[in-house]
Amino acid sequence: MPESVFIKNKKSRNIIIRSSLDLQENYFGNGIQIPYVLINGKDKGPNGVILSGIHGDELNGIPIIHKLIDALNPEHMSGSLLLLPIANIPGFILHSRYLPDRRDLNRLFPGQESGSEGSRIAFSIWKNFIEDADFGLDLHSASYNRWNYPHIRGNMKIEKIRKMSSAFGASITIHSKGVKGSLRREAAMRGIPFILFEAGQINRFEPGITDIGVNGIIGVLSCLEMIEKSSGLNRPEPSSSYFSKSQWIRAGGGGLFVPSIFPGDIVKKGEVLGDIHSIQGEIRDQVKSDIDGRIIGFNLHPQVVPGRALYNIAYTNKSFVEP
Ligand SMILES: [Zn+2]
Repeated sequence: MPESVFIKNKKSRNIIIRSSLDLQENYFGNGIQIPYVLINGKDKGPNGVILSGIHGDELNGIPIIHKLIDALNPEHMSGSLLLLPIANIPGFILHSRYLPDRRDLNRLFPGQESGSEGSRIAFSIWKNFIEDADFGLDLHSASYNRWNYPHIRGNMKIEKIRKMSSAFGASITIHSKGVKGSLRREAAMRGIPFILFEAGQINRFEPGITDIGVNGIIGVLSCLEMIEKSSGLNRPEPSSSYFSKSQWIRAGGGGLFVPSIFPGDIVKKGEVLGDIHSIQGEIRDQVKSDIDGRIIGFNLHPQVVPGRALYNIAYTNKSFVEP
């Protein structure tokens, strides 16, 4: 088994390494490579990994990583920070969330050496980039025709994840372990605390989101003492509260969705969030919240049918006990 990128480069200090390694073979038998950037601080310290594009059409993480590289100076850092701008290379080439066999890479971790094509990619990412990390961040965007208010997700029952989430300073944080096979769940289960930043939409670079992502990551790196206090980088205000659940409000009828409430807004149970208009312009149905909470995601496309997910609302269920 090859050594991880952290181990291979552990003796090089105070350096930014831009490289790539073989991930898979394409139809011509040529290697498909996965690019990475390793920032090895002047002093020894924790190993951190930040990935973007596990879903190949979620691009907002790429400028976050690029701007972060520009902001960081290994001279003022401890430890090693490994950055993967695009984790799902085959999906990225196809402008697709999924791998070419329609599997979701973020359901296949930690992967298998002799498994399916996607499972082998997950295994390679795991062995080369994740296994020797002490913590990680995974950068995502909403899926097709949806927009997510920038927020953090993670298993808040784990103290280090709570600490990282708070240091990120997002205005919304949600307690969620993640689904089986997702990188953050599988890593956290194996003692590598991982948080997920979820923001914006697919196929776009959104500048406001880039800034929130970069500032949040600098907050996390500062809290883990990877960045010197004298580095001149500003940390965000830590966040202190989180929601325990999220739930979609769905369309009751078919028609054209006209929203009146938007991501980030606080809503009350029974509040009207938008209308569904008929093609002739009459209001056919009202979309109402059935809980008190805060909008974290919504549907962008006006054409809707019954059952279409319209608003994702974060809330805290009464039985949830804060750790
Ligand atoms: Zn995603």
